[in-house]
Amino acid sequence: MQIEKNECNREVNTLETLIELTEKKTELYGLRPDEMEQWMAKLGQPKFRAKQVYNWLYKKRATSIDEMTDLPAAFREVLKEKAVLGTMKEVTRQTSRDGTIKILLELHDGSTVETVLMRHNYGNSVCVSSQVGCRMGCTFCASTLGGLIRNLSAGEIVEQIMFFQRLLDAEEQRVSSVVLMGSGEPLENYDAAMKFIDIITAPESINIGARHITVSTSGLVPAIRRLADEKRQITLAISLHSPFDELRSSMMPVNRAWNIEQLMDACRYYWNQTGRRLSFEYALIGGVNDDLRHARALADLLRGVQCHVNLIPVNYVPERNYQRTPKEQIRAFVDELNRLGINATIRREMGHDIAAACGQLRAEQGRI
Ligand code: SAH
Repeated sequence: MQIEKNECNREVNTLETLIELTEKKTELYGLRPDEMEQWMAKLGQPKFRAKQVYNWLYKKRATSIDEMTDLPAAFREVLKEKAVLGTMKEVTRQTSRDGTIKILLELHDGSTVETVLMRHNYGNSVCVSSQVGCRMGCTFCASTLGGLIRNLSAGEIVEQIMFFQRLLDAEEQRVSSVVLMGSGEPLENYDAAMKFIDIITAPESINIGARHITVSTSGLVPAIRRLADEKRQITLAISLHSPFDELRSSMMPVNRAWNIEQLMDACRYYWNQTGRRLSFEYALIGGVNDDLRHARALADLLRGVQCHVNLIPVNYVPERNYQRTPKEQIRAFVDELNRLGINATIRREMGHDIAAACGQLRAEQGRI
C-alpha cells in the first residue's frame, strides 16, 4: 500500500500543499519481488537493483535505507524520498516464563496491533495481526471490543515477521512458521493477506514454506472458496467453536451470514481443491459448548472431513465473562472426539501469564 505522507489541510490551497497532498511513499516491505523489479525500472534503475534491495531487506535485515551501502549514494537519497523501510515502533513487550514474547506495535497513524512469538520444540512460530481491531464481533474475543479500525497493508504484516526475525537473529534462529491468528479477520483483508504470503514465501525473502503458514478464519464462505481456487499449500484453520447453528450464531455473528452447513461445504471444497487437511479451532467455554453432547455433534459434523481439531481452553478476557472448562472435562471432551474417530488435541497454552490472547494487550494498554 501507499502511505499518505501528510494529513491534508484542504483550506490551504498553495502549490506546495497540493504536492504534499499527492505525495505518497512506497513501503519496501509491501513489494513482491516482481513488483520491486517493476518499481526499480520505473525509477530508471537496472534490474539487479531490485535483488540488491531485497537482499538488504530480507537477508541482511537492514532497518534503514542508509545501511544499503552498495547502492549508489544518490540513489539511496531517491529511495529515502520515495520509500519507507519500516513504519512501526514497539510500544510494549511482555515475555512469558515459557519464552512467548508479545509486542504491541504502533503504526504510522498511531493505532496499534499485537504480534506474538511462540517457541515450540519444532521451531519458532509468529502469530501476526491482519487488521487493527476486528468487526466480526465474536463474543469471546478481545480483538473485536473496539470494532474494526482499518486493514493492515501487506507491508505492515511482513514487518511484524521481520521484527521477530531480527530478534531471533541474535540467537541464530529463524521464524519457521507463521499463523494469521492475531487480531483481525485475514480473509476480510484478502489481497493484503495473500500478498503477505507471496512475499514471505519468496526464496528471495525469508523463504517460509507455504506449508508452514496457517490462515485462520471465522468462516467467510465466499473467501474460503476463492482461496481454495488459488490452490495454495497453506493450512486453513476454521474457528468453529460450536457444532450447533443457534449457539454458533450467538457466539459468532458471521454464522448468521453463512451457517455451519454452508461453511462445511466450503471446507470440503477447500480439501478437494487443495488436498490440504483442514484445521478446526474450538475454544472450550465452561458451561457453554463443552459437554459431551457438543463433542458428539462435532464428531458427526466432521465425519469424513480430512481435519484436525485444536481444542483451546478459552482465554480469560476481563470484558467478557466466560468461565474456563475444568481440566478433566477438557480431557473427556478430547477423548470422546478421539473415540469417535476425530483427530483432536488440546492446544498447549502459551503465554498464559501474559496477555497473549488476541487483542488482550491492546485492550490492557488502553489503546482501543
Ligand atoms: N478472525 C480469525 C483470526 C483471528 S482469531 C478467526 O476468527 O479465526 C484467532 C483464534 O483465536 C480464533 O480461533 C478465535 O476464535 C480464537 N480466540 C479468540 N478469542 C479467544 C479467547 N478468548 N480464547 C480462546 N480463543 C480465542
